[in-house]
Amino acid sequence: MKAPNRLNFSGGPGALPESVLLQAREAMIEVPEIGLSVLGISHRSDWFAAVVAELEANIRGLLELPPDYHVLLLQGGATQQFSMLPMSLLRGKAHPADYVHSGYWSGKAIPEARREGPVRVLWSGESDGFRRLPGDDELHCSAQAPYLHYVSNETVEGVQFHRVLGRDDVPRVCDMSSDFLSGPCAAERLSFIYAHAQKNIGPAGVTVVLMRDELLKAAPNDLPAFLDYRRHAEAHSNYNTPPVFAIYVVLLVTRWLSGEIGGLARMGEINRTKADRLYRLLDSSDGFYRGRAETGNRSLMNVVFNLPTAELEREFLAAASAAGFSGLAGHRAIGGVRASIYNALSLSAVDELAGFMDDFQRRRAAGRSVP
Ligand SMILES: *Cc1c(COP(=O)(O)O)cnc(C)c1O
Repeated sequence: MKAPNRLNFSGGPGALPESVLLQAREAMIEVPEIGLSVLGISHRSDWFAAVVAELEANIRGLLELPPDYHVLLLQGGATQQFSMLPMSLLRGKAHPADYVHSGYWSGKAIPEARREGPVRVLWSGESDGFRRLPGDDELHCSAQAPYLHYVSNETVEGVQFHRVLGRDDVPRVCDMSSDFLSGPCAAERLSFIYAHAQKNIGPAGVTVVLMRDELLKAAPNDLPAFLDYRRHAEAHSNYNTPPVFAIYVVLLVTRWLSGEIGGLARMGEINRTKADRLYRLLDSSDGFYRGRAETGNRSLMNVVFNLPTAELEREFLAAASAAGFSGLAGHRAIGGVRASIYNALSLSAVDELAGFMDDFQRRRAAGRSVP
């Protein structure tokens, strides 16, 4: 297969490994053991039950997840989890849940939680434009909170927590949609993790939820069945028709992570090398490229930066697009430039972008227009 012409630096959906695309292409026509297209295989087949079982085992293996976690494959994206989670864990509670407001996506989760029960915003980075994250001394987590919610990587602003937050006696809930399986994450210290597939681990349509069994037991009994985690756990993520194709591709990505890549520690090293390459370039550009996030809070997944003027940014984005770099425009909420460098985006692709950025700056400094 010919690789795509353009490199995908989009904030999401992100790039997928070429070997995964090749297998997905083949399965689109025919899954050899079955003799049918993956798009038309019954979700009640033994084949699909085996896909779900292997994917679950792969996620457990990659994260070294203790046995008392459920691995659920749900629909509705991370956005549905903004509501589904507090329906189960916050409804009817007297003490507020603690929420960290670190950027655009945690800001979306908070009002949804408020519909279900009391919420306390522990810390907000809004007045700083979400350029920095709180230190532990700024987070006064309550021992009474039903849970603490935070977003490990704020995809829009490009800030990432490089540690686990909160207290050991309060369940930690983490939206890891944009850094799930991008490196080791101490999953056993988090009671609930959710991540849709479409940034790091597959196509849109499936959301992975990892939750400790004790949380599952605490849910109210009058939830709509589809929004009750227990129904999905009992049905082994096959309560109604699941997105078979998306789940199959996520399985292929987990095989790629343990096989071709060699596990999450190695994936994490590769991702750090990629991010360092770009941040070093920003830092040595004499202020031409201006990193948005405070240095210690920089995201390894989303490198967000500005140029000296809005006009230069437009010129940069047009030239980058013409040179084959796709998806670099910053999120519509904040503008600027964002290079998203998820798992499947290779170091060589990052090198190519760095070369382009160097070149753009040099041409600009020389006063020549950039083609
Ligand atoms: C993209 C993103 C979301 C939104 O996910 P949907 O699947 O579109 O609902 C939520 N949280 C984070 C951290 C994201 O990056």
